[in-house]
Amino acid sequence: MLAGPELIRAINKQRVLRLIRSAGPISRADAAEQTGLTRPTISAVVSELLEEGWVEEMGTGESSGGRPPILLRFNPRARYVVGAELSAGHVRAVLSDLSGNVVRRVKYRVESSDPVQELGRVEQAVRDLLANLPKTAQPVPVAGVGLGITGMVDRKTGTWHYSPHFDVADMPVVQMLEERLVLPVWIENDARAMAWGDHSFGAAKGIDNFAYIRVGVGIGAGLIIGGELYGGAHEGAGEIGHMIVDNDGPRCRCGSYGCLETVASATAIARRAVKRLGQGQPSRIVEMVEGDLDRVIGTTVIDAADEGDELARDTLAEAGRYLGLAIGNLINLLNPSMVIVGGGTARAENLLLQPLREAAMARALPTLREKVQIVLTPLGEDSCPLGGAALVIEELFRVPSVG
Ligand SMILES: [Zn+2]
Repeated sequence: MLAGPELIRAINKQRVLRLIRSAGPISRADAAEQTGLTRPTISAVVSELLEEGWVEEMGTGESSGGRPPILLRFNPRARYVVGAELSAGHVRAVLSDLSGNVVRRVKYRVESSDPVQELGRVEQAVRDLLANLPKTAQPVPVAGVGLGITGMVDRKTGTWHYSPHFDVADMPVVQMLEERLVLPVWIENDARAMAWGDHSFGAAKGIDNFAYIRVGVGIGAGLIIGGELYGGAHEGAGEIGHMIVDNDGPRCRCGSYGCLETVASATAIARRAVKRLGQGQPSRIVEMVEGDLDRVIGTTVIDAADEGDELARDTLAEAGRYLGLAIGNLINLLNPSMVIVGGGTARAENLLLQPLREAAMARALPTLREKVQIVLTPLGEDSCPLGGAALVIEELFRVPSVG
């Protein structure tokens, strides 16, 4: 814990670094003016930032008489960060610079519901990313690891409380990974990490009120309200997968009926396609799984739809309409300026998105729908890992608080 002059120095340093990062290239004189710090303070802080590699000097700016000033810019390669995802199906991880440029990525299949075993896979992914780093004149330090995980996560305590896919109860994930990796670690719910990733590097840069809907084996939402991730009173916000969209719908694993997940998750898409096949509709899907309908998964339906299969397209459109119904409700509740759709099923792109948009627009109030964009995440499979990286970066540039 910093105190007194040390704390003041740390605050000044972060303020100057944040300014150069957001407003650079900038001269020392302009930095002094914009922060209200004295010239000697700025000079001392900048020397430190230069020495640690956070900023670089570049060409000169315009002179207002006298010697033209040297400009300072942020160096996105000052540190690497690792971002990772542990989902029901995969561990994905990326090594990124501070601007979200991916240097390398790894992906492994998740094979069990044992959280200790699969966190071991996350640890291995981090080690693999950091082995034999690209050679640079100065080794680039690694600032930390950010991990998005399925289920209920408390970022502040670093605890993984619950997951629909893993046998976990109140596991101190941050403590476990920090001990093994000897790096700072942050965790967050996967949909929230994805929202933060798009806020930092994707479709929602500069947008402070939006929702990210992750559609995969499960369905969840990351909500950014007033520029902050919204967790609710007990970190449980965002369970849009359990919004009721069909009062007489199928039973959900949560115990309720007709939840969005029961009709629009990857699992539901597969189940509904199989049901249509059972009703005798012809489809390429039968060939694709060699007649074994137990092998149909969400991806099978998307692949068939990509090839123009009508049954598959109808099934995706139906899921899209249910998602749109939930998103229309969400728009009325939160008045976001953007809704981003991502996750494994988002690979179906317009086959899903077009019916989704139409259904959402049909439900949203006219004054709200005119101003909301519904888009796919541009970050694709990197969405969650880059979200994890963005969490680390957020912490890196946080201004220390007094008390
Ligand atoms: Zn439910």
